[in-house]
Amino acid sequence: MPETILVVEDESIIAQDLQTILEDLGYFVPAIADSGELAIQKTAEINPDLILMDIRLLGEMDGIAAAKQISDRFDIPVVYITAHADEVTLRRAKITEPLGYIIKPFEQRELRTTIEIALYKHQMERQLRENAQWLATVLNSISDGVITTDCKACITFINPIAETLTGWSLNNAVGTDAREVFKIINETTRKSVNSPINQVLETGKIGTLPEHTLLVRKDGTEVPIEDSAAPITNYKGTTPIKDSIGSITGTVLIFRDVTQQRLAAQKLHSQAFYDALTNLPNRAWFMERLTDAVERVKRHPDYLFAVLFLDLDRFKVVNDGLGHTVGDRLLVAVAARLLKSVRLIDTVARLGGDEFAILLENLPNEHEAYKVAQRIQQELSISFNLNGQEVFTNASMGIVLSSIGYEQIEELLRDADIAMYRAKAKGRGRYEVFDTVMRSQVLSVLQLENDLRQAFERDELIVYYQPIVSLTTQEIVSFEALVRWHHPQRGLICAAEFIPIAEEIGLIVPIDRWVLREACRQMKAWQEERQISSSSTISVNLSSRDLIQPNLVEQIRQILDETGLEASSLNLEITESAIIENPESAAVLLAELKALGIGLSLDDFGKGYSSLNYLHRFPIDLIKIDRSFISRILESLEIVRAIVTLGNSLGLKIVAEGVETSEQLALLQQLSCQYAQGYLFSPPRQIKF
Ligand code: C2E
Ligand code: CA
Ligand code: CA
Repeated sequence: MPETILVVEDESIIAQDLQTILEDLGYFVPAIADSGELAIQKTAEINPDLILMDIRLLGEMDGIAAAKQISDRFDIPVVYITAHADEVTLRRAKITEPLGYIIKPFEQRELRTTIEIALYKHQMERQLRENAQWLATVLNSISDGVITTDCKACITFINPIAETLTGWSLNNAVGTDAREVFKIINETTRKSVNSPINQVLETGKIGTLPEHTLLVRKDGTEVPIEDSAAPITNYKGTTPIKDSIGSITGTVLIFRDVTQQRLAAQKLHSQAFYDALTNLPNRAWFMERLTDAVERVKRHPDYLFAVLFLDLDRFKVVNDGLGHTVGDRLLVAVAARLLKSVRLIDTVARLGGDEFAILLENLPNEHEAYKVAQRIQQELSISFNLNGQEVFTNASMGIVLSSIGYEQIEELLRDADIAMYRAKAKGRGRYEVFDTVMRSQVLSVLQLENDLRQAFERDELIVYYQPIVSLTTQEIVSFEALVRWHHPQRGLICAAEFIPIAEEIGLIVPIDRWVLREACRQMKAWQEERQISSSSTISVNLSSRDLIQPNLVEQIRQILDETGLEASSLNLEITESAIIENPESAAVLLAELKALGIGLSLDDFGKGYSSLNYLHRFPIDLIKIDRSFISRILESLEIVRAIVTLGNSLGLKIVAEGVETSEQLALLQQLSCQYAQGYLFSPPRQIKF
């Protein structure tokens, strides 16, 4: 596309001559105007790329006046073409910012060069204008504050965000020293910070804002700010602008308000490290402090700290009985009393639920830790008033001292936990200190745990049988199956020693299934060999863990099918405490087992809750009086008598467990107890007929 040129010339011969020359040069001349008015009209119509304008024209308006109007309305370059170049005319013409003059008469080459230069200059100017506009749009719309200065650190520009952040308007800021507009101080020292603008001007390198910088606004208020990666440049922070010979001509500073980020970070921090209910540090925070303490001991072996693990004793009762709101208030109140009992340097944390941990740092000696535990006991012994209710609580505590020597915080926490459980086991409301004896016990339990997992797979378990005899006929009415572990190094281990561990590590259910199958198989074999009276039964123990197995009844039925044993030959022993743990589902389960024809015994009766009045709710056939009553039978005579009487009146059989002496036997017979089991008759044995 050739460039379009409008020729404005009053002398038609010259105009036509000009048109021919221009078209020879490759331009397109669609129109010629001889007056200023026509020139404006044609410009509007054809929108030419350039106008060749004679100064003297027909009519009132001369070329300069016409060019003025055109430059006001259109963005089209004008080149004057005139024979008269007097001073006054030229000065007037200059105001209209023409892109060239051609003096008549002219040479063709001169005409072409002037036109080309004019077109090029016009294009460059347009580009520059567009760039400036684009930059202004960007600077005004980005969310960062932008300030530019000259080489003397005087402000040359600030964008609207920078206006808001500094409190200075563009008009007031321009020309002002940057240190006044961009006043910055350190958040903690409150001393003024060397501005990155100065850094740049001094060193010629990119400057950055130091951390924790506050911008002091014109009105004295403060905003936390940071350097920001500016989206319009590759640079971060303050960038030197260099002129063509490489000296700095000014700076650009980009910064942003980080108030929101600060708030969000603070919120995140408190969520991550604080317990929302009590406002105490949480487990994560505690672990960090503990890690620091363990590290400190590694550097300074004399440094002594202690960890106190604390668990409220009756929390569940309060929470379930008085409601969660009261429970929550109790936790908050306990937290306050714990804080009262320690020094400022100690850390009290809530680990979750009703569990708290306290890190006692820099102790002069171990007794200090005990004193804190005693203070806590004292504090907690005072009743709490919550919602007008008087609530009592107590805590069991486990204490671990750093002097035992720990590499890992996990070990330390585990030991604190163990000590706390000891305290609970010993009767609550007390503290226990973890020591090396406890540790070796723990280690041997850990070892036993490991061994037990393998024992099951390696067939190291065996079933022993102990007879239950009728005191009236002296005949064996049943055998109780009791599991034994034939440990390769430690020899025979009785159930009392490893069943609790098996329960703990979740191995009890498969063990019990195995014992049940084994006992049923054995019983069936005895029956077939007629070694045993057809009315006698086999008694097998169930753990509380078994009772919550969803398919227990189905599994038992399957084992009976498999072994061919009649349900009526099987008797299952369930402890009183296992039933109490879950009375509703136990009632359903026992009814189902009963419906199958299986006999049910209440084991260890009297040992735990011993509330006689719920007995009728469960379809039990037999009660086993706990061994502890029989071993002290002289003292418990009245209790045993009451149990026997109650059992008889409910039509239940009564078995006395752990009968070891003939004196005990005689007394039981006097009380009309019908059945007994114990060493006096036979210890549990591996029976082979
Ligand atoms: P338990 O059901 O009360 O079993 C009676 C326990 O008393 C047995 O201990 C038995 O060896 C012991 N014993 C029997 N007669 C006497 C006596 O005259 N004097 C004394 N001092 N003790 C006597 P064992 O076998 O160590 O079992 C302990 C507990 O482990 C059992 O108490 C039972 O609750 C549980 N248990 C045993 N075998 C199994 C099993 O296969 N599964 C489950 N879940 N628990 C089992
Ligand atoms: Ca039993
Ligand atoms: Ca028992």
